Amino acid sequence: MPTDPRDLKEHLRFYAEMGVAGFSRDRAWRARTVIGAPAVPVAARVVETGAEAAAPPRAETATTSAVAPAPPATRPMPVVRSHEHALALVRADLGDCTRCRLHSGRTNLVFGVGNAEARLMFVGEGPGADEDAQGVPFVGRAGQKLTDIIRAMGFEREDVYIANVVKCRPPGNRNPEPDEIERCEPFLMRQIDVIKPAVIVALGKFAAQTLLRTSEPITKLRGEFRQVGTYRVMPTFHPSYLLRNPSAKRQVWEDMKRVMAVLREDGRTL
Ligand code: URA
Repeated sequence: MPTDPRDLKEHLRFYAEMGVAGFSRDRAWRARTVIGAPAVPVAARVVETGAEAAAPPRAETATTSAVAPAPPATRPMPVVRSHEHALALVRADLGDCTRCRLHSGRTNLVFGVGNAEARLMFVGEGPGADEDAQGVPFVGRAGQKLTDIIRAMGFEREDVYIANVVKCRPPGNRNPEPDEIERCEPFLMRQIDVIKPAVIVALGKFAAQTLLRTSEPITKLRGEFRQVGTYRVMPTFHPSYLLRNPSAKRQVWEDMKRVMAVLREDGRTL
């Protein structure tokens, strides 16, 4: 822990951004542990509406001596060291997930890949067969299309972060069901809250409708930035739609040019 007050302030700011609520010099407080991190600790900040209702209630502080002592500790309070580490904590909370029926058909859970501090994030729908086999998002034919788009923008896959709304493959590549999305989406929100991208590109209907909390069709949504909490979301067509409709590439490229313009607003690209 730094001793210079300016360094200390910066240190505390960094932890606050990671979602760590506070510190105390009290020995008992410092030695305490928590019983399982909540599944949605910071997602409420990502989406303006509805997310608060999904967040678990905060623990109340004991105020009278009649209150029973805290139950025994089972897990040490995680100390967040970096964005990569914060993502690893989200991954650890997902664990060997059985929260929805998709777990029974998966080979690998597909968490996400790329730069944990990316300014540009792509969100797809869910893993297909190739992604399920490799545990990495967008590595099949649609993935090659996405890689082409990323390169055309002047970036590499390692520069950006890529994830999906659902982390396990829907059988036969069917659409994810609403309850499957509901179970998985808090983890996407936590990924977003760790990475804090300047722009999120929502690839296709499911990503766009989930992130924007809307049922509007992708044909109406695409091409216009929407503000979601502190994030700017650009909905566009899914790369697999481009495989079936190559002429839509032109529209996707128009959308990506608008994304690049926003990324350049503060004089940087990535
Ligand atoms: N389609 C998606 O939406 N995500 C992937 O990871 C692969 C294909």
